[in-house]
Amino acid sequence: MPIHHIKKFLFGAPRLPREDAMKVFRRDHFTCRYCGLDGLQSFENWLILTVDHIHPHARGGGRHLENLVTACQPCNLIKGKRVYGSMEAAKKHVLAKRAEWLKTYHSHVKAASGVETH
Ligand SMILES: [Zn+2]
Repeated sequence: MPIHHIKKFLFGAPRLPREDAMKVFRRDHFTCRYCGLDGLQSFENWLILTVDHIHPHARGGGRHLENLVTACQPCNLIKGKRVYGSMEAAKKHVLAKRAEWLKTYHSHVKAASGVETH
């Protein structure tokens, strides 16, 4: 087995080289393609930007630019390694999950912390 296959088996997908990640970020204007988080608005936003494989790398998805999109960490995490039929299907799933969590946040978290919700 070639060494890079062993590494992939042990450690998962190798990190995308920084130049490639920057190409993806620039094309997407440093904006999460799922929720629209603007990575240029603040350093904190920029810090959580990641590159997402639309068709997961772990499931054979390629590293060509058409398969890569800018995603914030929460969206990338929600999307996970599931295979979706298209970018639109993945986005629909991610946004639906975010909407669910937003409800939880408003009804439980903010209520429990005593902060006024609007
Ligand atoms: Zn996002």
